[in-house]
Amino acid sequence: MVLSHGVSGSDESVHSTFASRYVRTSLPRFRMLEQSIPKEAAYQIINDELMLDGNPRLNLASFVTTWMEPECDKLIQASVNKNYVDMDEYPVTTELQNRCVNMIAHLFNAPLGESETAVGVGTVGSSEAIMLAGLAFKRRWQNKMRAAGKPCDKPNIVTGANVQVCWEKFARYFEVELKEVKLSDGYYIMDPSKAVDLVDENTICVAAILGSTLNGEFEDVKLLNDLLTEKNARTGWDTPIHVDAASGGFIAPFLYPELEWDFRLPLVKSINVSGHKYGLVYAGIGWCIWRSKEDLPDELIFHINYLGADQPTFTLNFSKGSSQVIAQYYQLIRLGFEGYKNIMENCQENAMVLKEGLEKTGRFNIVSKDNGVPLVAFSLKDSSRHNEFEISDFLRRFGWIVPAYTMPPDAQHVTVLRVVIREDFSRTLAERLVLDIEKVMHELDGLPARVANGGEDAAAAAASASEREMTKQRELNIKFRDDKGTQQASNTAFEGLVRRYFDTFEHRLRRGKSSKSRRPLHLQPSKANSAKSVQAPHTGCFEQTSHFTLRKSGQPSEDFDQVLGDSNGCWASYPKVYTHTQMDYAKGFDTRSTTGKEQGFASFGELKASEVCNASSSKSTKKQGFAA
Ligand SMILES: *Cc1c(COP(=O)(O)O)cnc(C)c1O
Repeated sequence: MVLSHGVSGSDESVHSTFASRYVRTSLPRFRMLEQSIPKEAAYQIINDELMLDGNPRLNLASFVTTWMEPECDKLIQASVNKNYVDMDEYPVTTELQNRCVNMIAHLFNAPLGESETAVGVGTVGSSEAIMLAGLAFKRRWQNKMRAAGKPCDKPNIVTGANVQVCWEKFARYFEVELKEVKLSDGYYIMDPSKAVDLVDENTICVAAILGSTLNGEFEDVKLLNDLLTEKNARTGWDTPIHVDAASGGFIAPFLYPELEWDFRLPLVKSINVSGHKYGLVYAGIGWCIWRSKEDLPDELIFHINYLGADQPTFTLNFSKGSSQVIAQYYQLIRLGFEGYKNIMENCQENAMVLKEGLEKTGRFNIVSKDNGVPLVAFSLKDSSRHNEFEISDFLRRFGWIVPAYTMPPDAQHVTVLRVVIREDFSRTLAERLVLDIEKVMHELDGLPARVANGGEDAAAAAASASEREMTKQRELNIKFRDDKGTQQASNTAFEGLVRRYFDTFEHRLRRGKSSKSRRPLHLQPSKANSAKSVQAPHTGCFEQTSHFTLRKSGQPSEDFDQVLGDSNGCWASYPKVYTHTQMDYAKGFDTRSTTGKEQGFASFGELKASEVCNASSSKSTKKQGFAA
């Protein structure tokens, strides 16, 4: 769109904001506007579109801070124009970062003299901190192997399968093999003895998590330290430990001061923590602390002098804002040990209120532990009729954002809902959430079962959905996405349906090519021409089948823009839920509508949408940042 010249000046002053031409035409999505628009209009347009984001305070998926004191907000605002990297120009900001490093190192019991400075760095978050820590381990290991005249081209790192995605990134970006200890039913963290079994001469470190992303549970770092010490003595290696304390680093020192997980354990050489999680700062700050100078190889540190004096730096990027460092310093001095302890205790109590409320309903198993990061992870005792994804969806209507996800291997058949308790999640809200979950359960009880299974007993069917079958479904799913159209050899009822579905899909798409108008996709092959739209159970809104086609085809996100651009009410009101991933498609479209009326889509229910969804998205769910 190009705004035309020559509109009289009175245009802007005469029209009310929402009648001005700027809000009456749609903005281009791919190219810049040719002309400028008034600042008020730009503000209004952006502000209004952002209203459709979820409310961060109700986003219970995230560990990341969503509230700070107004005084700190002021400091943040006042420093948004300061580039952190200009250390010589902003020496005080640099000094504040160094003080934060010292305070956090002491909190983690680094072996430091009273006025000795600690070794550490402020980062954008734990992910950057973990890249840096991993690089330090890799380099130290390489140096050691080279000195011993041994090959150093096959480094590996040992973690639990429950690690946050940043470890997978580290492994891939920096070419280190990731050896994951598998989880098992009812045990969702890394088993230290299995981890030590995986350690070999090429292991650069074992990474333990203090506060598993999935259920908040602390891994047993002390036991890991003891077992590894023993193995090191036996083999002559000196495999070290890193603790990923992204969420637990600001919990354990206050709630469990006796718990030994930090530099009190000799093999722990570095620890990361997210300042923006329980460090209580807005998104954009993390910390990496090393035990001593020896643990951070010198050759990774760069010295720059073109900003003034010599400055050592060890970060992945160069420029960044200063506000988060200043905000962290504010929290550390404003709250002190006492303040942090009070806040963490309060979070813990609210977690217990929520946990007990959920237990009282009699419908859930709690899979988080009382000692750990204050969160409640829970799954349905009976998910044969309705599953956790539906609860998550239904809660959106009350404004709550509660993620549902499947556990990593070998516990991928377990689905959980997770509520992270942050500082700003008050008792009232905890109690309200319990009430709303009860309402959702009641509502779901009144609806037909999600999985249509041809008269079979639903519970029995769910129970018999063995793991092998799920793997098969996942493979099928992938296959059909990769090379749809190719005939598949197998002939289960499930596969037959999928095949029929895709055949029809391809067929319609080809036929529709010539037509300018939207290509109707008929979702139910046997009822071709009957389904022009499908109903989203959350909103009761109808979605054009062409939108569904776009998402189903797994095309990149421009399609989603296009869908949004059609300003279909149901899309607009649920932008987060309705991205066109396989998972969302399976979540959002169901065998029934909220009115209980069967839709044209119904037969697709035989695909066991929930399982297709679980199987195909378990990996991506993990990667899509529920962890954050
Ligand atoms: C959140 C989290 C991360 C990633 O941290 P960011 O600060 O978001 O980069 C890494 N590990 C664990 C255990 C986490 O919970």
